[in-house]
Amino acid sequence: MSVEPMVFPVQSRVALFGLPFALSLGGILARPIESLSLFWPVNAVLAGILLRYPRHAGPMSLGMIWLAMVSADLACGSAWPPALWFNLCNLGVVVTAWWLLSRLPRRHQRMRTPQGVLSVFAACAAGAMVAASLACAMAAPWFDKSLQATWLAWFSEQFSTSVLVLPVLLTAPSTRVVLRSNAHAIRLWPLLVLLASLAVSIGFGGPGAIAFPIAALLWCAWTYSPFLVSLLALTAGSTLIVAVAQNLMHFSVPQSEPGVTTLMSARLGIAMLVLGPLVVACVSQANRSLVARLGRQANIDHLTGLLSRSAFTRRACALLDSRAQHGPRLPLTLMMLDIDHFKAINDRHGHATGDLVLRQFARTLQAQLLDDELVARLGGEEFVIVLPGLAPEHAHFTADRLRRAVQELHATQHDPRLQITVSIGLAGCEAHETAPSLDELLAQADQALYRAKARGRNRVEQAERERQAI
Ligand code: GH3
Ligand code: MG
Ligand code: MG
Repeated sequence: MSVEPMVFPVQSRVALFGLPFALSLGGILARPIESLSLFWPVNAVLAGILLRYPRHAGPMSLGMIWLAMVSADLACGSAWPPALWFNLCNLGVVVTAWWLLSRLPRRHQRMRTPQGVLSVFAACAAGAMVAASLACAMAAPWFDKSLQATWLAWFSEQFSTSVLVLPVLLTAPSTRVVLRSNAHAIRLWPLLVLLASLAVSIGFGGPGAIAFPIAALLWCAWTYSPFLVSLLALTAGSTLIVAVAQNLMHFSVPQSEPGVTTLMSARLGIAMLVLGPLVVACVSQANRSLVARLGRQANIDHLTGLLSRSAFTRRACALLDSRAQHGPRLPLTLMMLDIDHFKAINDRHGHATGDLVLRQFARTLQAQLLDDELVARLGGEEFVIVLPGLAPEHAHFTADRLRRAVQELHATQHDPRLQITVSIGLAGCEAHETAPSLDELLAQADQALYRAKARGRNRVEQAERERQAI
């Protein structure tokens, strides 16, 4: 349980009283006279809010919530004793669900894992059991039903409503995420099929029709985000509950039925119906995030943020292929760069400083290059650049500019001894000349780089073939 601040902010006090008061008032006004609500979403909404804003959760907040619920009941003409007691039952759901779920790691709590989804279901069931048991403890004066019927009525309503409402609160994206995300077109077919299958369920009727929307819900589950799936599950579930309660699905709901009524059974069945799609939604989301992360890891060198070797190979091959296929053929240059005596930097200043130098080196290269020029880290302190549209003899000037920029890099370092230099080997082809393969270009540039090292380092050398061609 989070520790309450000594001074409870006025805005929090207003929100923690105002919100439950308004929600309860709405719930009371919407429910049939002298009967339990078809839905009482207040408890699940409050549990969700306390879980999303744990700073506001604590004994004082819970007291405030209870006071607000009781006030709403009294404002609608309830007597004191039932107002106090029934809202204690409601508070039982809020406290139990919040207490159980607040103990879970955030990933489970936000339903990012199948265990998380099952835990939310279990917490909703526990909350509903507490509320039903508290209601039974004082049922005699206010209910004309048996204890069993009272327990089941509270349990089935609170469990099904919480299971439909709480996931929406727990999976809702934060405002920060909504503002950051780019709006993209949403695929409409799963949504339309869900609406159609709900209409078919109600039109066809009978107890089995409750399960008709499951295929569409599963389709939504692997297409949409868990939040959207939770919203759709809430819509589908509440539509079916209302349809059953209003006898639209052609199976009788006798009001005076003892024990387990058809409505209770339908509520529990509908609550369990959404479990599968919610698990699928969370697993699909986890898969999508994993694939995106692996894709990023495969394409980007984690230390420098440049292209990785494999991503570079793919892009450079694509560039050479499209050059071969489409005219007019432009010249092209490949540069191989190797930092001079880099091992000595590691040995003298440590590996962490070596990493810092690699990052600064990469930034220097990026600052000198244009968007269509490829730059990648091949590994260690070796880098490669492809300059489309530039013949090797012109690229020589670009390479020399890079070499000088690297030499001046020490000016940005705190330690003036940390001066680095780079050796560069060039290879490429002229306009209208057939380009060698990527492997050949790399081998030629490597030979030129070897010569640059042999001739004293901190210099640019061109591959033999190019030098002869000039
Ligand atoms: P030369 O001028 O001949 O290129 O000499 P050099 O010392 O730069 O080349 P050598 O191949 O002998 O050493 C490269 C060093 O780069 C050895 C290795 O420890 C270091 N290195 C490779 N990858 C990393 C890395 O990710 N971070 C750091 N800090 N060092 C790395
Ligand atoms: Mg090297
Ligand atoms: Mg080196």
